[in-house]
Amino acid sequence: MAESAGRTLGEEEIAALERVIRSGMLSSVWGAEVRALEGEVAELYGSRHAIACSSGTAALHLSVVAAAPDPGDEIITTPITDFGTVAPILAQNAVPVFADVDPATGILDPRAVAGLIGPRTRAIMVVHLFGAPAPVDDLRALADRHGLTLIEDCAQAWLTELPGGGYAGTAGHVGTLSLQQWKHITCGDGGLTLTDDDELAGRMRLFADKGWDRAKGRSHESLGLNYRMTELQGAVARAQLAKLPGVLADRRRTAVQLIEALRGLEGVGLPHPDGHAWWLFPIVLPGGGAREVAGKLREDGIPARAGYLHETLNHAPVLNTPLYGGSRYPLEGYEAAACPEAERMVAETLLVIDWNENYTGAHVAAVAAAVRKYCG
Ligand SMILES: *Cc1c(COP(=O)(O)O)cnc(C)c1O
Repeated sequence: MAESAGRTLGEEEIAALERVIRSGMLSSVWGAEVRALEGEVAELYGSRHAIACSSGTAALHLSVVAAAPDPGDEIITTPITDFGTVAPILAQNAVPVFADVDPATGILDPRAVAGLIGPRTRAIMVVHLFGAPAPVDDLRALADRHGLTLIEDCAQAWLTELPGGGYAGTAGHVGTLSLQQWKHITCGDGGLTLTDDDELAGRMRLFADKGWDRAKGRSHESLGLNYRMTELQGAVARAQLAKLPGVLADRRRTAVQLIEALRGLEGVGLPHPDGHAWWLFPIVLPGGGAREVAGKLREDGIPARAGYLHETLNHAPVLNTPLYGGSRYPLEGYEAAACPEAERMVAETLLVIDWNENYTGAHVAAVAAAVRKYCG
């Protein structure tokens, strides 16, 4: 299935790069491309602010900065995600508290989150895993009841539709997007945050530019790093953004075909198609054996992997090593709670099949035949 490498880079991106290079201005501080990208993404999402930055991880760091935890405060998140969700919590000297997931989807379970909220909780970071809509209505209600910031990690969920209307990334206080090589659209690396809140937007914008409020001259009133997106990234991202609706339509069409082709298969949990953006196509085998099945599928040329992660992130080795020099602050004595549902998914039941916009009916038929062969 090599022809399904699935990127949409072409003449439009080449023209965009040429435009920027000929302009002689590669920095978004003075150029127009990144500001235009922000405007286009804000309009697409119906958000008051979109703030571009250098990666999805940088966007998540900005979102933690927006939540403003004191050192040692807690942020509740999921053990099944890219480490880019968790690293920014540690970078702000906050403590990741891992809540368990729904075993049918791998997505944060609001009841598990509710049970972990305590006096030091500052925020909830939820991930729209593999492109499926997370239960953000319940999480937003929980966040509002306890005065917490809800952050939606939409790195895998461009244009994921929420059941109540609107896109994933607009139900929380801050949403984040990634433009990394293998996301729905890419400029190599890049990220964006979304928010309707002027104060949070201001905090994130300043942090992404060294705490430098350029309207006030060369004075630094708050801490910040340099997370700026370049004009080269911004111009490519704009060309990619124009292709995003087509990318989603193509992924959705073939994913629904696969669901139809696998419907009724005993012992195979299929994803719900409503609103799904199909970054990957996840399958759950409640009886276990996903590692063996993935091995057999791969021998048949199907791009399948078991578990998505090597281990759930509550067991990531980094949580038991020094974080800054010899210091483990703020994780001294830290013991991550068990997340049995997530751990069983990663070890035994979760199978993910790579998905992209170039899949054809023949690809779908090949995947369906192989899954039926080994999971029947
Ligand atoms: C890719 C990804 C990130 C990190 O994004 P980068 O652009 O690679 O830094 C964070 N969270 C999730 C869920 C991701 O898939």
